[in-house]
Amino acid sequence: MEFAASELRIDSRRMKKDFEELSRIGATDDGGIHRPAFSQAHLQARDWFVQRAARMGIESRVDGAGNHQAVLPCGKTGAARLMLGSHLDSVPFGGRFDGALGVVAALEVLETVKENGISLDLDLCAVDFTDEEGAFVGLMGSRALSGRLPRQEVDHPSGSSDEFHRALARAGISPESIFSAAAATGTFAGYLELHVEQGTRLKDAGADIGVVTGIVGIRNFRFNFNGRADHAGTTPMDRRRDAGLGACSLVLQARQRFMQNFPGCVVTAGNIDFRPGAFNVVTQTASVNLEFRADDIQTLDAMETAVYEEAGKAADDFGLDLTIETLERTVPVHLDDSMQKALTSATEKLGLFEIHLPSGAGHDAQAMALICPAGMIFVPSENGASHSCREFTRWQDCVSGANVLLQAALSLAGARIF
Ligand SMILES: [Zn+2]
Repeated sequence: MEFAASELRIDSRRMKKDFEELSRIGATDDGGIHRPAFSQAHLQARDWFVQRAARMGIESRVDGAGNHQAVLPCGKTGAARLMLGSHLDSVPFGGRFDGALGVVAALEVLETVKENGISLDLDLCAVDFTDEEGAFVGLMGSRALSGRLPRQEVDHPSGSSDEFHRALARAGISPESIFSAAAATGTFAGYLELHVEQGTRLKDAGADIGVVTGIVGIRNFRFNFNGRADHAGTTPMDRRRDAGLGACSLVLQARQRFMQNFPGCVVTAGNIDFRPGAFNVVTQTASVNLEFRADDIQTLDAMETAVYEEAGKAADDFGLDLTIETLERTVPVHLDDSMQKALTSATEKLGLFEIHLPSGAGHDAQAMALICPAGMIFVPSENGASHSCREFTRWQDCVSGANVLLQAALSLAGARIF
């Protein structure tokens, strides 16, 4: 008798037990977790992954970048892998769902396939990627696996190099070993990631599931306005070259321009630095760190032109000199159409309501998309809260997401679904 793979569902109670076990590792009093990459709590969570895989009778291996991969050999001999997963590290004082849900659901899918003795064309693999959140190097594990991690970023991590090297050593890896994680071409047939939305679009639309169309590109700049320091009490307002005014004008005008010309897109000034920074001195230099995001290059280019124009106008209006530093440009990533289709059809078969949307946040899927077809499933975040102890997703939504992951994985891995 052929197995009706479309009838298969994950075990909600077993997955909840796993999720709760994991949520206790690095738990904070307010209901969140504190599990930055390579902290004691993160190392403990990493051990949990290995033990969880062992409990279901499959081995996990750790690569040179510290990624854990647990492979279920359910495919044909020499089959490529369909990888499922996310990350177990958190931002400092973050939430329980970000990353962890995707890893727990991946392991649950493997166990469901294993206990039902299903043979597929592809092997399934659950992954826990290292330092997604960038305690030292953002998306370190997934970018190392995809072979696209620039050496410069490993040489210049956030924080000190010494601290980074000590942290790596705690996980048994080194700056050099990171690059050995690069996967051989053809290792992966695809990658699927279940993640919380971290926004409100699903809730606003009343949707159960988000099929992610792409991941935004981000551009970071520093705008340096240069004016003249003067006595704050004796210099008339019309004779000042106040760099602070240029900075403030840019921030407000950029907001205005984005709301008018780029609806749905975001621009953020994360920091303004005034020098000399005294009460009684007109500001001589003001630096604005500004970032904006969009899911296509044409829009990013148009935004860049708009922001440059606003900065130029602000400098002219207040008699300032202006220099602009480009700090980072990440390209937007389109997630594979066939993966989106598989996710949509799994969602429909499960009777769930889905919308398609781009992700405004970065994810491991953007690195995997460079080497294999990648797809992402979002489940609703209550009040859009994330990177916070307030992060919450209803359990039934987590289960729905995991079932979409299961059904999409089965169909992509060649299960006969009828
Ligand atoms: Zn995440």
